[in-house]
Amino acid sequence: MRKVKIFLFFLLVAVLTVPAYGQDGDDRLTIHLRRDFGYRSVGRIQGRFTISADGPHDLERVKYLLDGEFFAEVSEAPFKYSFSTSEYAVGAHTFSAVGTTASGAEVISEEVRLEFVSAEESWQQVANLAVPLMAGLVVLMVLGTLLLTLTGRRSGSFKLGNYGSAGGAVCPRCGFPYPRHFISPNLLVGKLEMCPHCGKWAIVPRASRTALDEAETRFRADAEIGLLAQESEGGDAQEQHKLDETRYFDS
Ligand SMILES: [Zn+2]
Repeated sequence: MRKVKIFLFFLLVAVLTVPAYGQDGDDRLTIHLRRDFGYRSVGRIQGRFTISADGPHDLERVKYLLDGEFFAEVSEAPFKYSFSTSEYAVGAHTFSAVGTTASGAEVISEEVRLEFVSAEESWQQVANLAVPLMAGLVVLMVLGTLLLTLTGRRSGSFKLGNYGSAGGAVCPRCGFPYPRHFISPNLLVGKLEMCPHCGKWAIVPRASRTALDEAETRFRADAEIGLLAQESEGGDAQEQHKLDETRYFDS
């Protein structure tokens, strides 16, 4: 029972309020402005726009006024009219509209205040937004690369033959292979990477398997030479020691 009463109450409210709102909306003429091409910021426009209006259901024609003077007249819903701000003086303007219904009644819209800006100014506005955005992106890219280099150095994990999803690269300076970072910036021909062996920054493409094999051989050979050099140094010292000993015993 309670539910039925609540339902009836809301039904009554709906019946009473809907026609009242409908009546209100019918009396009004509202101007809409759509941007087709150009710039639009709070109250400032530049470029190609389409003005339209809606109002009473029997609205027959709408006359638009710019600064109180005739602008355009349209007799077909939704009363669209396209214009370019470049055809009018730069500065503050006021749009308004007068609609005529089938019964001959007039409906008047509220005024819409807008500032027409020059093309140069609108580009300036766009640049004001875009330039810091680009600068921010560049800073992020540089920071990201630096961070990768630092963390890469700290872990110091270079495993021969293990290059990950971004593939391996061959350093153009020392000719040794190294893995490319997945998150490193892509710069058309390759990724910006720093060689973990010699520290050379370069834009490196993904190296072919053959190129990597060659570079790995070079790396191994170099590592062996390094080991041999260390060994021979140690060996020399030992031999020298022995020589000293024999000399000692000789004398
Ligand atoms: Zn290198």
